[in-house]
Amino acid sequence: FKEYKVVVAGEAGVGKTALTLRFVTGQFVEEYDPTLEDGYRKQFVVDDELFLLNVFETNYRSDGAGEYEALLEYEIRHADGVLLVYSIKSRSCFTGIDIFRKRILRMKNATSVPLVLVGNKCDNLAGEREVTTDEGMDLARQIGCPFFETSAKEGTKVDEAFSKAVLDRVCR
Ligand code: GDP
Ligand code: MG
Repeated sequence: FKEYKVVVAGEAGVGKTALTLRFVTGQFVEEYDPTLEDGYRKQFVVDDELFLLNVFETNYRSDGAGEYEALLEYEIRHADGVLLVYSIKSRSCFTGIDIFRKRILRMKNATSVPLVLVGNKCDNLAGEREVTTDEGMDLARQIGCPFFETSAKEGTKVDEAFSKAVLDRVCR
């Protein structure tokens, strides 16, 4: 079977772990291996073919302070797809997305990695939204990538976002 690697990137607290666990342990899970510490695996079948998806979580700070650029670059360069995650409750996380994307573009051989923009916590609409859906869509248009507003809490669009990160390759 073929293996793919998806990197879930975002600032601390945007919901990377919650999204990953929702995706891996959600109701469409066939099998997963929770013994891995840094990553999670999910098997899925497309057109009778078995695929193994390895999901890794990468924290970054938009100011890059105290980060191991080389490690981050390694993760991104070896990814088949990257979820760029912000929280719709955080203006600064949203601003940080574009800064991080520009860092990705400077990384050697990483410019062609498929990106998916993800605005998480879309269940939380109790006046706490700081980033509108239109703003997310506009940024995705600039980047030229798909966009989903997700809720790890309620499971909204989580499978769609992860699938989009690799499915284009799988089905090519
Ligand atoms: P990480 O640092 O990016 O891995 O973020 P976590 O997955 O640890 O989530 C940070 C906090 O946000 C936790 O308290 C989660 O329960 C909460 N959280 C994550 N995803 C969602 C979501 O979709 N909706 C809501 N309301 N809370 C969320
Ligand atoms: Mg986490």
